[in-house]
Amino acid sequence: MSALLQRSLRSELPTIVRGEGPYLFDSEGKRYFDGSCGAAVSCLGHSHPRVIEAIRRQVGEVAYAHTSFFTNEPAERLAAHLIDRAPEGFGAGRVLFVGSGSEGVETALKLARQYWVERGDMQRDRFIARDMAYHGNTLGALSAGGHKVRRAPYATMLMDVGRIPACYPYRLQETGETEEAFGRRMADHLESEINRIGPDRVAGFIAEPVSGATLGCVPPAAGYFRRIREICDKYDILLIADEVMCGMGRTGTLFAIEQEDVCPDIIIVAKGLGAGFQPIAGVLARQSVVEAIEAGSGALANGHTYMSHAVACAGSLAALEAIEEEGLLARVTELGAHLRAGLESRFGQHANVGDIRGRGLFQAMEFVADRETKTPFPSAFGLAARIKSTALAHGLVTYPSAGCADGVNGDHLLLAPPYISTEEQIDRMIDICDTVIKECLQDQ
Ligand code: PMP
Repeated sequence: MSALLQRSLRSELPTIVRGEGPYLFDSEGKRYFDGSCGAAVSCLGHSHPRVIEAIRRQVGEVAYAHTSFFTNEPAERLAAHLIDRAPEGFGAGRVLFVGSGSEGVETALKLARQYWVERGDMQRDRFIARDMAYHGNTLGALSAGGHKVRRAPYATMLMDVGRIPACYPYRLQETGETEEAFGRRMADHLESEINRIGPDRVAGFIAEPVSGATLGCVPPAAGYFRRIREICDKYDILLIADEVMCGMGRTGTLFAIEQEDVCPDIIIVAKGLGAGFQPIAGVLARQSVVEAIEAGSGALANGHTYMSHAVACAGSLAALEAIEEEGLLARVTELGAHLRAGLESRFGQHANVGDIRGRGLFQAMEFVADRETKTPFPSAFGLAARIKSTALAHGLVTYPSAGCADGVNGDHLLLAPPYISTEEQIDRMIDICDTVIKECLQDQ
């Protein structure tokens, strides 16, 4: 009997005892290929020597000192590393480090609110977000999220967040509509929602540059974020990019938003930042946001005990240096193309695969009962859960989810292998996926 309050109180989980490269090993000696890096976290695999050494060294020197008294070198260096590489506009920006993606999103929402308070615009306290977005599980982040099932138990406790459709071409692009026209139509929903709420009430718009956990690796349509930026500028609204899942190289660039040619006001990064060696998230604030606080109260209105944790920052800095020095951004693009081609050739004509999508080493397949009508499998069939457990039995960790079609129905399988994987390991992963999907669909 476990004393641990686990995610499921009904299932027994294998105990993980060791990690080596892209593999995990349980206490029975079974090996798993980490085909999703857990939840797109362990991008350097599970035993990167440089990161391990940096963490060991830092624990030996000093692990923790409270940020109201001290700063520390790893945090300073990590902040500088991120700002140096962030989109133009973050020039004299600053970064704040907290412990998780949800905490990062909470911090970003509060930072946006503080920005308006500092500017004397007290009435700006509303946010707008997208359907099917995932921004985390704390109450503020869950309020921004658009996943019906996850929100349901807490619905009465959540903030009133304005909502627009996701930029989800597989289900929302009209026949004959170009990608650009589709992107513009989806982005224009933001303008309507701002006007519905009242432009002087809106503090910010939050979106994942490449949709992750709940929608399954949906890249934005061409021009979508440029139009979003235009609308935010027109109404003087902060643009918050939640790159917790898609950032830190996962799509082939350090920041996913780089590929959209726009500069947000706030960026949240997490998962790949600590690469799983340490729990950490970073919230980057653009120069203009920092300046408003400097010119106003001069102090952050929001703080946490474990901000700028020295060991977490030392581990993250080593992870980011490894990504750069080992040429892993280019490798993600190359290996991502290999993964995508493998998925297309194996499942492109599959009767139950409606869509294959993604960017870099962040790829997903959406399953349908009928390709013509795009009808999803009924949620009672539990396809996502079946895939997850069957893949695990075959020694493969994946990240399937349910609800992408309408918030309840619709299953997708998200793959996000480590950047250090080989072509052979990717091919083997695709073979296992093939076996798993066959097994899961045989009794449909
Ligand atoms: N934002 C996004 C885009 C995410 O994908 C996630 C986690 N899947 C979060 C926020 C929340 O992060 P965490 O689970 O570390 O709190």
